[in-house]
Amino acid sequence: MGDRPVRVRIAPSPTGYFHVGTARTALYNWAFARQHGGKFVLRIEDTDAARNKEESVSGIEAALRWIGAVWDEGPYRQSERGGLYASTLDSLWEAGALYACDCSREAVLARTKRNPTPGYDGYCRRRGLERGPGRALRFAVPDDGVTVVHDLVRGEVEFANSTIEDFVVARSSGEALFVLAVVADDRDMAISHVIRAEEHLPTTPKAVLLWEALNEAAQEVPLPYFAHLPVLVNERRQKISKRRDRVALEDFEALGYLPEAMANYLCLLGWSPPAGGEFFGLDDLVRDFRLEDVNSSPAFFDQVKLTHFNSVYMRELPVAEFTRRVTEWARETEDRLGAACYSGERWEKLAPLVQERARILSEVPGLVEFLFAPGFSMEAASFEKAIARDGLAPAILRETAAGFAAVSSWRAEELRAALERVGERHGRRLGKTQAPVRVATLGRSVGLPLFESLEALGRHETLERIEAALTACGREG
Ligand code: GLU
Repeated sequence: MGDRPVRVRIAPSPTGYFHVGTARTALYNWAFARQHGGKFVLRIEDTDAARNKEESVSGIEAALRWIGAVWDEGPYRQSERGGLYASTLDSLWEAGALYACDCSREAVLARTKRNPTPGYDGYCRRRGLERGPGRALRFAVPDDGVTVVHDLVRGEVEFANSTIEDFVVARSSGEALFVLAVVADDRDMAISHVIRAEEHLPTTPKAVLLWEALNEAAQEVPLPYFAHLPVLVNERRQKISKRRDRVALEDFEALGYLPEAMANYLCLLGWSPPAGGEFFGLDDLVRDFRLEDVNSSPAFFDQVKLTHFNSVYMRELPVAEFTRRVTEWARETEDRLGAACYSGERWEKLAPLVQERARILSEVPGLVEFLFAPGFSMEAASFEKAIARDGLAPAILRETAAGFAAVSSWRAEELRAALERVGERHGRRLGKTQAPVRVATLGRSVGLPLFESLEALGRHETLERIEAALTACGREG
């Protein structure tokens, strides 16, 4: 890795949401910095999006904290660093690396539309225009030779200079362009490794050219190592995007994914532990992560697998911690059942069963609403299937109610035995006998184990609900 102090950065643009791919990039950068005793810098690339700046920045900070990639320095904001970009432009101009250009977009198009390679044709390169208002600044790319990007993931990637146009580094308004700002910042912040998304690879030769020109024009700063991380794709192998896929980290948080499950899964998109296995924590990542082991091929962001990961993490939490997470999630998302229901004796009885079945926190309310929702009602489709269309349902409900009313103690085993006796009388399996009772009392056909649920619901409420279901059958029939 050379002997430079490790300094890496995450450079999100404030888009109003935090992309899962940026979260992965942040985790890799963070782990790399921790592993090398280096620094992880947060830089907000907010030159374009001026809207709602403060809110966006705090959203970025919250997302990074949530996923566990906490920065050591910053946030720096590009919008506040115009002075550095101006002086960087001055140095390049004085060294003769730039030229002024007053071509309009239309003029360039008219001249170049029949050219075999698209892009600017160098028209102003030898006109010797002075810089000034209304004139953009372009970088004079060497005509021959190649620019090589040394990429720790992809090896040496070569770009023929003849394919790189004389790109704009400052608009005619004088404002610096993104590529210039990034290079100026990476130099100023002594960034040793640029670890970022693959989509930035095509602009990297421009960054290298600028960097080398600045080394001659100003101070010599070693070029950073580059590592371009594989693109994330959906099941149709398309790059995931806000338009067609769920990509906002905030959405996953709201759905009740656990940050540690999310972090683990995201880190697998392009890398896996050398010893095998897929489950690991951030400490393991810090110990084992190697940029050289990152894959270059596209990584499938598979939400089904992510959900499976989450269910595994959920099950492994101590019950008290699971309860804390649900409560916090309900409070944060202002869930309809309210955070207060996840406490007390009834909840504690069911919590371990809920933990087994809910794959994400937002599935918890559906599993316990029979107990905590203010009004109880049977789901129409479940009622139809398990009660209205089953000729035996009224008899089963009536006999079960009688059996339940007679149990000596209101415990799951006794309730089960009572129901089994009803089933035997009618020559029905337990599962089938349960179905109408489940819908009558829990409101739907799937959910928590029936008898434990009824134990929590209590005698009075259970019998009342079975009565109400019988009345409803009467009305239907
Ligand atoms: N601002 C860029 C982004 O949001 C990152 C650029 C970089 O890392 O160099 O993707």
